[in-house]
Amino acid sequence: MSRLVVVSNRVTVPKKAGDAPAGGLAVALQAALEERGGIWMGWSGNSSGDREPEKLDVREIGNITYALTDLTDTDVEEYYHGFANRVLWPICHYRLDLAEYGRKEMAGYFRVNRFFAHKLAPLLKEDDIIWVHDYHLIPLAAELRQMGFKNKIGFFLHIPWPPADVLFAMPVHEQIMRGLSQYDLVGFHTDFDLDNFGGGLVREGIGERLEGGKKFSTYGRTFKGGAYPISIETEAFAKYAVKASRNAMVKKAKESIEGRDLIIGVDRLDYSKGITQRIDAFEQFVRLNPAYQNKVTYLQVTPKSRSEVPEYEQMQRTVAEQAGRVNGALGQVDWTPIRYVNRSVPRPLLAGLYRLAKIGLVTPLRDGMNLVAKEYVAAQDPEDPGVLVLSRFAGAARELTGALLVNPYDIEGTAHAIARGLSMSLDERKQRWEKMMNHLLEYDINRWCDDFLKDLTTD
Ligand code: ADP
Repeated sequence: MSRLVVVSNRVTVPKKAGDAPAGGLAVALQAALEERGGIWMGWSGNSSGDREPEKLDVREIGNITYALTDLTDTDVEEYYHGFANRVLWPICHYRLDLAEYGRKEMAGYFRVNRFFAHKLAPLLKEDDIIWVHDYHLIPLAAELRQMGFKNKIGFFLHIPWPPADVLFAMPVHEQIMRGLSQYDLVGFHTDFDLDNFGGGLVREGIGERLEGGKKFSTYGRTFKGGAYPISIETEAFAKYAVKASRNAMVKKAKESIEGRDLIIGVDRLDYSKGITQRIDAFEQFVRLNPAYQNKVTYLQVTPKSRSEVPEYEQMQRTVAEQAGRVNGALGQVDWTPIRYVNRSVPRPLLAGLYRLAKIGLVTPLRDGMNLVAKEYVAAQDPEDPGVLVLSRFAGAARELTGALLVNPYDIEGTAHAIARGLSMSLDERKQRWEKMMNHLLEYDINRWCDDFLKDLTTD
């Protein structure tokens, strides 16, 4: 079996072999690397200031070599905050209005990708399989090809891929499409993303879809494309949630809601997550259903993210003000309708809260997949499961058809779905939940990893 080389913007390095990594993705990638032996390369998350980064920080742990590099302040500003987070992120989440194009940032993005390729090159063997992750590193294969590497190289995009009209508004779209054409397999979360990619090639007259959409031909190359819905460690997470429900913090949280129905929202603070629309929907729900006054608690857990980007800083204020305003308008002396927690919570507490909640409110305006939706389902009690209210614009909606699907822009529609979820019969809740849980047990994170690697390694 060939060695596997994983390249991602950030790398999860365990302290010693066998240490459990934090997220499902890191678990699956480490398992695949451990099995085949391999390298995980990426940015350390640290800056070398204005000096060129020193040589790679290489650590051998078990069967895996972790290779990390620092980046200069300018690199971090231009490649990461600049182009990745201020152009590609909004464009791929259909937010043309938020993209900020700067020549410096665009050049920085391609420069840092070349830098990664040059750092990686000396570590590579001829038959290594290379798996590149996410929007930060699209041009990496093109750089490696230019240096003469003929290895199998796969790319997986962890965010959505937009339709042609959105994508082609980005000044460097041609270099980005050309960059993707240098891979042997380009993976997306859903068939919709895949269609957007293929449709874009055809619409612009720069390529074709072959074999019913499983292959593409453009810029003189033919390569595979596929939909691989990322997932969680379903079985492990379900067990974890049972254990978590006995946790002291969860018991305290349960006591504090005093028998009210819990509605939960868990998201990084990001404009793609639809948090302001969700708070509006909750407010509407209470106004339209006064019988629920003092009978529900909506808990929104939202850690800060990307505070260096102005839109995120602004959003932090907007959401806090909005939650305060709704509490002021609807609250009573003995009832705070919205509890807003602006930080990360420990995983046992999170799992226990999911299990406690009657409604999981997951309403992004656009999301590649949304793992919170899958975690919420996995955490439920099979004898008394809660209801998932899910945006049709999350990738997860393609699979979790037992959810109440909503259009997050339709505030009243979401308010009605909350009311419907809270009054749903046990039979219907069980039926809907079982359908979703069975799917997630089959399509877990290991399945995602295996399916991608199988398609990358076979012709
Ligand atoms: P994204 O990758 O855009 O942040 P996902 O929903 O796909 O969105 O993944 C988010 C991950 O981060 C989930 O595994 C979720 O449990 C975790 N997470 C999100 N918010 C919190 C929080 N407040 N505390 C702890 N973990 C969180």
